[in-house]
Amino acid sequence: MPTLRLNILDGINSIGGSKIALTGEGGGILLDFGVNMKKKREYILGHRALTIANKLYYYLYSEILPRVRGLYREDLVEIDERVSRLLTHAREIDVQTCVISHAHADHYGAAGFLSNEIALAVSNSMKTIMEAMLESSSLDIEGEVFSMRDRGDKGIGRFDRRACVFEEGTGIPEAPFKITPYPVDHSIPASFGFLVEEASLTYTGDLRKHGLLSELTEKFTEKVRGVNYLLIEGTRIDSSIRVPEHEVSREIRHYVLEKADKLVCVVTSPTDIDRIRDLVEAARELGKKPVICPRIINLLDRLSDSRTKITIPNLGDVGVYFERRSLTGDGYDLESANYRGWLKKVYLDRVDGKRGGELVKPDEIAKQQEKYLFIMSGLDYVLELAQIRPKPGSRIIVSTSEPHDEEQEIEWSKFERWVHLLRLDLRNVHSSGHADRESLIEIINEINPRKILPIHTENPYEFQRLLKLGEIKCQVILPKPDEPITL
Ligand SMILES: [Zn+2]
Repeated sequence: MPTLRLNILDGINSIGGSKIALTGEGGGILLDFGVNMKKKREYILGHRALTIANKLYYYLYSEILPRVRGLYREDLVEIDERVSRLLTHAREIDVQTCVISHAHADHYGAAGFLSNEIALAVSNSMKTIMEAMLESSSLDIEGEVFSMRDRGDKGIGRFDRRACVFEEGTGIPEAPFKITPYPVDHSIPASFGFLVEEASLTYTGDLRKHGLLSELTEKFTEKVRGVNYLLIEGTRIDSSIRVPEHEVSREIRHYVLEKADKLVCVVTSPTDIDRIRDLVEAARELGKKPVICPRIINLLDRLSDSRTKITIPNLGDVGVYFERRSLTGDGYDLESANYRGWLKKVYLDRVDGKRGGELVKPDEIAKQQEKYLFIMSGLDYVLELAQIRPKPGSRIIVSTSEPHDEEQEIEWSKFERWVHLLRLDLRNVHSSGHADRESLIEIINEINPRKILPIHTENPYEFQRLLKLGEIKCQVILPKPDEPITL
């Protein structure tokens, strides 16, 4: 067996920001290259540091991105001598492919900084989700994942990054060693864990056992049983709370039914397609018309064009929420620059009758509030409700993760302020995308590896404690960012 080196560059003592390098004689790979939101929030001050010309320099300086040679975009390194200087004495890593586990930004969101020589290995649906989310966000250089503007060429030229599209259960094309992706259950479809055969190493990505696709996680643990090394996520290693997805489904129906005579709104993650499908079904069952915000519709349109295997809801009788954005045309002039390309397309496809779903303006919802179940893609969408003016006591259900850090708490308190101003009746119902402690113990014992390396966790010592308690039997290695492990 050839010797491989495992170098966990980031995402060890934090939730997210996973960046794992695996290198050998013939080259290497990265497993994920995500944004470390924790570090980013610690260092980014307002917008000053965010100008494109300075971004990579500041990110490397504050180590929001790891200081490693051979990873970053040549155009950005070449035009900025400060960046080259920072990297002069950094170690070099030789990788050709970055394998992405799933389309959450904490796993792929820093890939826009990677050298365009490094191909991205993604599944077809994962790529579609990434592209739809990137096009409907306000990111600049960090959004340049598959297509980049050449900053060394007066910013005129463009270049594309190569994508190697993989299928479940078969090897990843062009990777220097045999890596097999297996789908797992998580809060976004097209999520994968991986088996690297040469190293007898498994990487779980993010996973759980209590979603609608729990059998995927079970099949995955069977396939990778008995590996030497298990790189496992430990987001919820300190919690034994397990709310299954079907319980969320039942509770949401109950909360919708209670407000049969009023408007009901649900805030959910735009990429949690299983949850969105269930919300559409719930609305139909309970006699309300589902109205979906355009960011989610755009993703569903792109997925249906991509011939995905993901079951997406039928949009035939669905309402597409028509945002009032222009100063002309009574607020709905689609020629206005306030409708960005993707948004305009979502609306024009309905105006032209090309796709299912009819446009619904806030005024129409306002007139017959009890008729609708409004599916919103984020807390900030609560602002749209100020246009609808829901009747006092209307319901808003939040079905996303609870705030994790200070910044999210500030966001949450602003959201709550709006909830109170609008006199809404707020409920929280959520099933986590991550396995709880008891599920993680089951997963580890089912796989039965020789050694585990906890990552994607703020509490790696809990794994050691569980070893002492005899709950898990394998050796626990706590990796460090500057200490590569020879496998
Ligand atoms: Zn995730």
